[in-house]
Amino acid sequence: MNCAESRLLLHAHADGELDVANSLELERHLKTCAACVAEQKSLHSLKSALRQSSLRYDAPESLLKEVRRLGRGSGGEAQPGIFQSLLLWKWLAFGATAVATVAILSRPEGISGRDQMLDEAVASHVRSLMAEHLTDVTSSDQHTVKPWFDGKVDFAPDVKDFAAEGFPLIGGRLDYLNGRAVAALVYRRNKHCINVFVWPATNTENGKRALENRRGYSVINRETKGLHYCLVSDLNEKELTELGSLIGR
Ligand SMILES: [Zn+2]
Repeated sequence: MNCAESRLLLHAHADGELDVANSLELERHLKTCAACVAEQKSLHSLKSALRQSSLRYDAPESLLKEVRRLGRGSGGEAQPGIFQSLLLWKWLAFGATAVATVAILSRPEGISGRDQMLDEAVASHVRSLMAEHLTDVTSSDQHTVKPWFDGKVDFAPDVKDFAAEGFPLIGGRLDYLNGRAVAALVYRRNKHCINVFVWPATNTENGKRALENRRGYSVINRETKGLHYCLVSDLNEKELTELGSLIGR
C-alpha cells in the first residue's frame, strides 16, 4: 500500500468502517510511514473535537425577532408576502440542515458505539492470531493473569481457567477497542483460539446472551456483574455458547 491509497482509507478506518483485510493492510503501512500516522492523528483529534464541542447555538434575539416579524408580515397581517415567505423558508431549510447535522454527529452512542466495539473486537481477534501477539501475559493460572491487569485497565476482569470444562486459559492481553482499554482473555478449545474481551457493562445487552455472526466469526455478548464479555472465535456456535455460559458465572 502506498501513501495515496492509505489516505483514501484513513477516514473509513477512523470511522470503523473498513473491512479486516484493508484494516490490516493500512495498519501495516502506518507502521512504516510517519506522514500517514500524522494524518491519522489529526483526523482523530478532529473527530474528538467534533464530538466534544456542543455544536449547538441558541439563535440570537435579532434572528428570532426577524423570523417572528416575517411570520406576522410587515403590517402585522397573518399572511407573509411572497418574498418574505421565501426568506422564512430559507431560514427553515437552514435550520433543518443544522438539526440534521447535529443529529448525524450525535448518533446514539448505544448503537453505533456497540457496533464499533464489536467490529473492532473481531478485527483484534484476527490480528491477535495473524501477528502472533496473542498474549502479553501467558499463563493458565488465573492468579497470575488477573493481577497482571491491575493498573492497566480501570476495572477488575473476572479471570478463570476452564481447563476442566475443556477451555484452558492461555493468558491475557491489553487491547484497545474504540479508543478504550479493554482486557482480552485468551482461551483455547482444541485448535481454536477464543478471545474474550472484557470492559465495564454498558447495559446494552439486557442480560441476554446474544450470539451473532460478524465477518464470518461467532460473537457472543454477555453482561453480568457489571462487566461486558465479548467472545470472538471461529469455533462452532455450540461450543462457544458453552464457554459463554461459563464466563462471568
Ligand atoms: Zn504513507
